[in-house]
Amino acid sequence: MYYVFILGTAGSGKTTLTKNLQDYLLDQEMDTAIINLDPAVEQLPYTPDFDVRDYVDAYEVMQNYHLGPNSSLIASIDLILTRAAEIKSEIDQIEANYVLVDTPGQIELFAYRETGKLISQLIRGSNKALGLFLLDSFLAKEARSFVSLLLLSSSIKFRLDLPIINVLNKVDLLTKKELEQILAWGENTENLIDELGRVDEYSLELVNLLIESLSSNLIPVSSEEGKGFDELYAEIQRVIAGGEDYL
Ligand code: GDP
Ligand code: MG
Repeated sequence: MYYVFILGTAGSGKTTLTKNLQDYLLDQEMDTAIINLDPAVEQLPYTPDFDVRDYVDAYEVMQNYHLGPNSSLIASIDLILTRAAEIKSEIDQIEANYVLVDTPGQIELFAYRETGKLISQLIRGSNKALGLFLLDSFLAKEARSFVSLLLLSSSIKFRLDLPIINVLNKVDLLTKKELEQILAWGENTENLIDELGRVDEYSLELVNLLIESLSSNLIPVSSEEGKGFDELYAEIQRVIAGGEDYL
């Protein structure tokens, strides 16, 4: 059983990709389950096998504790842990080859609060896990945003201590030329540096390191149109086959 955490900034397409990746994996005859960890989502395009809203609902938290939308989200994530034992026993019932975990809209709530890390450890238990970090093409087509998103991805990899595959999502929003350019940035620092224009010494080193460590695993996908899933699945299998130490 493998856990695949779907991560990315708000609106990057996590929920859409979760649904379409499940459909894809089912077509490959892989048993797939979905965990929804977003306490604030109103509608889901899939039927979750575990839904955190059964335990904590951000809207109820907002009303019950008289909180605004932001504080209620923070409180909701923290409240999840108060139900940890029940949640764990429900999740332990799940049997599947792949368990896709759709994470809260606001990534910083999940990745940077201690609770988020504890929840991710709680649900995956001793199973192997990896993360898909979604870069929204609409943002990534600008060179500085592209670098910033990769920095966020590295930071989350470090924070959650998971192998991460970077997924360039919503490529249907790009022209062929824009897509080629982004992929070229991912392959060669020089292309990217040219585009960035003037950068200080520190940023230059950072960018070099980022692109080096990226090692070709930027996978272009359109989760809405279901494109790129063969390559994504191959990359997931490659990371999983990477061995015990890696995962
Ligand atoms: P989340 O907040 O990361 O879970 O993002 P959602 O899955 O809810 O998607 C946010 C918005 O982006 C929705 O309007 C989706 O329809 C749209 N979206 C998601 N994936 C794609 C895609 O591949 N292409 C396009 N054009 N839009 C997408
Ligand atoms: Mg979502």
